[in-house]
Amino acid sequence: MDSPNSTAADTRLTTRASILLPLPLAGTYDYLVPDGMILQAGDYVVVPLGTRERIGVVWGPGGDALPAARLKAIRDKCDAPPMPADLRAFIDWVAAYTIQPPGAVLRMAMRVPAALTPPTPVTAYRASHNLPARMTAARQRVLDVVQATEAPLTAAEIARKAQVSNAVVRGLADSGALTRVTRPRHAPVPQPALDTETVTLSPDQQTAADSLRASIAEAAFSVTLLEGVTGSGKTEVYFDAIAETLRRGQQALILLPEIALTVQFLSRFEARFGCQPAAWHSELSPPRRQHIWRAVAEGEVRVLVGARSALFLPFAELGLIVVDEEHDPAFKQEEGVIYHARDMAVVRASLGEFPIVLASATPSLETRVNVESGRYRTISLSRRHGGAQLPTIEAVDMRAAALPADRWLSPRLVTAMRDSLARGEQVLLFLNRRGYAPLTLCRACGHRLACPQCSAWLVEHRFQGRVQCHHCGFETAKPESCPACGEEDRLVPCGPGVERLAEEVALLLPDITPAILSGDNPRERGLSSVRDTIDAFGRGEIPLLIGTQIIAKGHHFPGLTLVGVVDADLGLAGGDLRAAERTYQLLHQVSGRAGRGNQAGHVILQSYMPEHPVMQALVSGDSEQFLTAETAARRARRLPPFGRLVALILSGPDLEQLRQFATTLARTAPHGDGISVLGPAPAPLALLRGRHRYRLLLMADRRQDIQQTIRHWLARHKVPNAVRLHIDVDPYSFL
Ligand code: ADP
Ligand code: ZN
Repeated sequence: MDSPNSTAADTRLTTRASILLPLPLAGTYDYLVPDGMILQAGDYVVVPLGTRERIGVVWGPGGDALPAARLKAIRDKCDAPPMPADLRAFIDWVAAYTIQPPGAVLRMAMRVPAALTPPTPVTAYRASHNLPARMTAARQRVLDVVQATEAPLTAAEIARKAQVSNAVVRGLADSGALTRVTRPRHAPVPQPALDTETVTLSPDQQTAADSLRASIAEAAFSVTLLEGVTGSGKTEVYFDAIAETLRRGQQALILLPEIALTVQFLSRFEARFGCQPAAWHSELSPPRRQHIWRAVAEGEVRVLVGARSALFLPFAELGLIVVDEEHDPAFKQEEGVIYHARDMAVVRASLGEFPIVLASATPSLETRVNVESGRYRTISLSRRHGGAQLPTIEAVDMRAAALPADRWLSPRLVTAMRDSLARGEQVLLFLNRRGYAPLTLCRACGHRLACPQCSAWLVEHRFQGRVQCHHCGFETAKPESCPACGEEDRLVPCGPGVERLAEEVALLLPDITPAILSGDNPRERGLSSVRDTIDAFGRGEIPLLIGTQIIAKGHHFPGLTLVGVVDADLGLAGGDLRAAERTYQLLHQVSGRAGRGNQAGHVILQSYMPEHPVMQALVSGDSEQFLTAETAARRARRLPPFGRLVALILSGPDLEQLRQFATTLARTAPHGDGISVLGPAPAPLALLRGRHRYRLLLMADRRQDIQQTIRHWLARHKVPNAVRLHIDVDPYSFL
């Protein structure tokens, strides 16, 4: 790659520029700078590429190896603030770390090309002193809307509010009853107010906030873990750090796992700062996306709350990142460029030379180790705010409960549910399984309904009358007869999903209508409807909620006092090196939803192995022993964070070709001092979307430059056209 590291923002490029295009190409391309065009590094430019035009970014001055006649000229320069130097450095860094072409990373930072053109003004309407010659009910509604609003609205905005067609608005303007004006396309972004001290921090919280303020005052790179039990006020404390950042004239970014971006969070922000923050997530409309992207680049947005992709926005003057729920696996992007948003956020802060705060009640083992080694600072809040008690946790031994095969709620849990509901308190049942039943079996021949394109069972979704693959989205009507033996009415569901659990609840508690929340799959249900249910539960409008892990994340449910974990052992199965850690984090987090209001909370864990260290840690409330043992085990086995892992996932339609290529790769794999490669082996998910999958796993000690090793290794091979190679540095999924 020939991209010079140009950090000087005003590097003038007079004759040739090297341009990075948002495409998976090997490096930058040189172009001629036309006479009179004044460029600086970071400028967005339109260049010819093949028969098309593309928008790229000036990455630095061009080289002089090629004669000018061989180069094409830049066509145009976009009217947008240049991409800041720290973002360009970040893109190069992420590309090198994830072993991806920089253009593939740039693409993530250029998802909204329309934002590179300044928004044009729009026609809007305000009231005039004239009345229309003819008045109708629709016209009256329009005039009412216009009179009630201060800023002029567009025809479409008025039409929506008055429930009329745009033509009614235009007709009124033509008749002189409305005056046409032009106004900027977007209303200005509301600015957070700094003087609304809505809460008084407790002494503990104040100490934490002071220490963050001190980090901010250093105006240098530092990482601080803000650890604190759920409900201890971590959010209030980092809000204070954000206010301090804003006072210093810098922008702040809060990264949340996507689903935590609820109305609840936005209203809390509003309570503190007097306005909603700008938000960045997958459900923004394209015009909103354009507006926010540009407002971030122009510095109009001061605080942005976003999902992981917000890390690639062109902040003009970013001065603080907060990663809330830093341990959450949702920060790992598993498709395209595979990266961990928490880790890359730390990199972005280091390149931008500003502080970053990682907040969690259950910090990841990686972060704990960084604290122990002194690389990260740490602040902890040990008590819930306002004297709220942490919930008590008990484990129910399911071996002793001896339930019938189609029952999952132990008598102990059912009694506790009845008691809580009778007191008017809310109950949450947690089961991390969507649908009705995870498996459908033919009692006649033993056939199991499986996805035709994946090595996975089909999950029954009874409300929809369908069976569905949770890996590829394949779905079909639930068959009446067994597709293998043809016997009718012999297909039976095995095991519970949230829908089936709702049936059991309805049977046991006929007076209660439970709600189900399981839409972690946006294909299944929009995020906004998920947020609605979460917010309704938070307001106490739903007595009993049955949910998958979607309900675990950071929500505040003041009326919730009982959490029942239906299958606490679920996450422990499988060969994932983080299975125990994650189960602990998830169950701790789910438990933390209980008793955040005035009443004490109680949690019941149903487990077939209540003696497991994870259950013991949860019940005793003392995680130290478990986490220390977990850390020691990782250290002994040289697993992350003590060693490094890189997964290579090969997939292709032809199993034989795939196996051959995987074997060829393995034969030349790097090995020796501190480095080894396991595999190839068929992936646990051996077939996905009709493609076979093989995995190789590279293990190395921390001294190794694994990126360089892998680049050299792969450079010796040509990946066959039908085969896809995914490189996953620091893998979290081992499927
Ligand atoms: P965490 O982020 O650690 O889970 P939160 O910041 O969400 O904790 O705080 C839990 C609840 O306590 C919230 O409703 C919050 O508004 C309230 N709270 C926390 N600190 C204070 C404070 N100093 N004054 C008033 N309310 C507070
Ligand atoms: Zn499938």
